Amino acid sequence: MTAVILDQLEAVLPDGAVVTDPDITAGYRQDWAADPGAGTPVAVVRATCTEDVQAVMRWASQHRVPVVPRGTGTGLTGGSSAVDGGIVLSTERMRAVSVDPIARVAVAQPGLLNAEVKKAAAEHGLWYPPDPSSVDICSIGGNAATNAGGLCCVKYGVTTDYILGMQVVLADGSAVRLGGPLLKDVAGLSLTKLFVGSEGTLGIITELTLRLIPPQPSASTVVASFRSVESAADAILMITSQIRPAMLEFMDQASINAVEDTVRMGLDRNARALLLAQSDSPGAAGTREIETIVGACETHGATEVFDTDNAEEGEAFTAARRSVLPATMALGSVLLEDVGVPMRQLPSLITGIEAISEDCNILIATVAHAGDGNAHPLIVFDSTDPDATERAHVAFNRVMELVIALDGTITGEHGIGRLKRDWLPRQLGADVMELNRRIKAALDPLGILNPGAVLA
Ligand SMILES: Cc1cc2nc3c(=O)[nH]c(=O)nc-3n(C[C@H](O)[C@H](O)[C@H](O)COP(=O)(O)OP(=O)(O)OC[C@H]3O[C@@H](n4cnc5c(N)ncnc54)[C@H](O)[C@@H]3O)c2cc1C
Repeated sequence: MTAVILDQLEAVLPDGAVVTDPDITAGYRQDWAADPGAGTPVAVVRATCTEDVQAVMRWASQHRVPVVPRGTGTGLTGGSSAVDGGIVLSTERMRAVSVDPIARVAVAQPGLLNAEVKKAAAEHGLWYPPDPSSVDICSIGGNAATNAGGLCCVKYGVTTDYILGMQVVLADGSAVRLGGPLLKDVAGLSLTKLFVGSEGTLGIITELTLRLIPPQPSASTVVASFRSVESAADAILMITSQIRPAMLEFMDQASINAVEDTVRMGLDRNARALLLAQSDSPGAAGTREIETIVGACETHGATEVFDTDNAEEGEAFTAARRSVLPATMALGSVLLEDVGVPMRQLPSLITGIEAISEDCNILIATVAHAGDGNAHPLIVFDSTDPDATERAHVAFNRVMELVIALDGTITGEHGIGRLKRDWLPRQLGADVMELNRRIKAALDPLGILNPGAVLA
């Protein structure tokens, strides 16, 4: 790209919005997945408003320049990997939020962190539930673009369940408003839903209207240790067939030990699996739910079951669970999966992953949003050892084959990005892939929005 073309972009944006210093732009090349195929952008644009984003897209359409939208880069699939010769469009400066307590909605710009949306809602006695483990570091726009899940989603649903409307800038630079602060609205096709989870490939979200609900009641917590992953998986099915817990998380021995190495919660290092469950139903209903959880764990041979009403204690266990990914990353390079299966298949998934780990002679630490049937096998290896790297990739592919054989999904909440793209046709089939391509071509005929993500 010539300097003249870049000058034209600078001319239509506020001073300082276009950053070309390679020492700075290098920090925008990759997300947490550290995609080795990430390119080098010609510039990063730090937009401040919808009009800035429109100006970027008009310029990009005119000159056919690829644009990669980026929140805070906590993605785990290479979804915001930069493209050679392209622009990274960062929303980090788009941080306004307002709350309407009568309509029970928040209107947020995309660069606000998830935790900041929760805080703004809490100031009005309201709650924004979706809580990815990255809650303190991920943007609400990134959450919408990936349809992020999290820990309380087993009871309260995922990001899409809280998006009532949005403003989106399309590839040609036009801006549209979809939905709004209406609790019921079925006018036209469900276009808002189409953009949720579209990973920056169909448009750039510049504003979100989010549904808020009354605050979560105080939760009681159960922590149970098991001698085998099978018995923990059986306990999970027994729980979910009877109640809807507010949290139901699984950690295997490798993830328990990774956490203990870093935060020292006093978890049983010898346990083969641990369940962390919560009920936030008030009064007698909550007591019954906790009894059901404890009973299921005991029926399936838990070696230790601990329960507490103390909110701080419960939060400490939740924080330990949230720390599994960074704790595991301290052990070596990590290939991170995000697979999901129908609940009935959860035991086969968890035991299957254990078998793949043994067969491939590679450490796989598995942590799961178990109540949603969504597991994160974290394949840990020494990337300086070619043999270990090879075995890690074989294990990754075998886990993908396993979930497809179990009628599952290759991604439950992180998205496809670039790192899982080649597996997408195996899950969707040729006809659904073609439908995806037709929608992409209709909205982004020049193919300039996040090229290479999701669809090949
Ligand atoms: C420690 C850790 C724990 C995590 N735990 C969870 C978890 O429990 N559940 C979960 O779902 N995820 C989890 N994640 C993954 C990640 O935090 C989520 O995918 C999050 O939604 C990404 O937000 P981001 O702002 O970092 O987006 P980015 O990584 O910057 O971008 C993600 C994707 O969204 C697109 N995008 C970003 N902003 C916009 C926009 N405004 N318009 C259009 N497209 C856009 C990008 O192009 C890219 O494709 C975790 C990550 C980490 C590091």
